[in-house]
Amino acid sequence: MALRIDEPASLKALNSFGVAARAARLITLDDPADLDAALALIARAPRALVLGGGSNLLLAADFEGTVLRIALRGRRIVFDEGHAAIVEAAAGENWHDFVCWSLDQGLSGLENLSLIPGTVGASPIQNIGAYGVEMRERFDSLEAVDRRSGERRRLLAGDCRFGYRDSIFKHPEGAHWIVLSVRFRLSRRFEPRLDYGELRAELAGARDAGAVAAAVIAIRRRKLPDPVVLGNAGSFFRNPVVDAAQADALARRHPDMPRYPADDDRSPGVKLSAGWLIDRCGWKGFREGDAGVHDRHALVLVNHGAATGAQLLALAERIRDSVRERFGVELEPEPTIVR
Ligand SMILES: Cc1cc2nc3c(=O)[nH]c(=O)nc-3n(C[C@H](O)[C@H](O)[C@H](O)COP(=O)(O)OP(=O)(O)OC[C@H]3O[C@@H](n4cnc5c(N)ncnc54)[C@H](O)[C@@H]3O)c2cc1C
Repeated sequence: MALRIDEPASLKALNSFGVAARAARLITLDDPADLDAALALIARAPRALVLGGGSNLLLAADFEGTVLRIALRGRRIVFDEGHAAIVEAAAGENWHDFVCWSLDQGLSGLENLSLIPGTVGASPIQNIGAYGVEMRERFDSLEAVDRRSGERRRLLAGDCRFGYRDSIFKHPEGAHWIVLSVRFRLSRRFEPRLDYGELRAELAGARDAGAVAAAVIAIRRRKLPDPVVLGNAGSFFRNPVVDAAQADALARRHPDMPRYPADDDRSPGVKLSAGWLIDRCGWKGFREGDAGVHDRHALVLVNHGAATGAQLLALAERIRDSVRERFGVELEPEPTIVR
């Protein structure tokens, strides 16, 4: 099949904020045989952006370059050791469909990560996590291609340098990799991860991976806005990690402030709740034009319809400024900001 190329192209339906940005050129890669041709095109482009499901992106402006949308499909069991198996999915597979497929194979491990929007290929980029589990805990390896040289490599966890909502792919030294497929090590022995009280309550005693997935789905549907109905990119800021002295000083002034051990080699310290900090600055439910903050979730910026990426970014900056002024804490955006 030939590469699909649209020039120019609207990205409105390809980003979960529903921002009406355009790209000078959009290439859709759905056949691995077209990879070299796609790489040759993006090598000649003034700028290039790799796109999965567009659910962790803010398109702050039109993109005067080439967008390469990874739509490669396919999933399989690579090795089956009986009690455990290595499974693989192509980068363009929908993440939630892949989680459901793995559960249908009798394999557990990904159930806490049900219903996270986006593709399998993007899951290592920010080491997706939810309800006490991070992708890296189930990760085996991935295949990536160097967009500059066309070299293909299998990368192991150590190569990917996973951290809290972080990996090498988010940094200049890893930004040249395009993920083609990801492998996970999953288990036939269900080991529940029910650290979240809300998840335990929702389960009401049921104890299998399918029940955990159903409980996670129910909670997420209740709490998070559906991007099809209300444009958003999930949590807009990462939970900030501060040193113990700053956390203690803040806790003395705000005794009800939530705090958790950062539990991360790459960022030791104390993790604070970005949602709590933003809420305390009075942003929950704020709306200016069509850019706003969700009325039940201070961490979720929303597009009520016709907000531009620039308006959403300006709102994010105001939120950051107010948290910095009130608490002296710096918030970092979680989505990729495309300017
Ligand atoms: C309602 C909602 C809830 C969410 N909940 C969570 C949550 O609980 N936990 C969580 O961690 N995230 C969450 N997210 C964020 C998002 O779902 C994840 O980050 C997801 O992995 C993004 O996948 P995507 O395919 O849409 O990536 P995109 O938005 O398309 O891309 C994100 C980044 O990855 C890069 N990228 C994408 N594909 C590739 C590839 N194949 N190779 C190299 N780079 C690539 C892009 O260039 C970009 O920098 C949520 C988002 C929404 C809208």
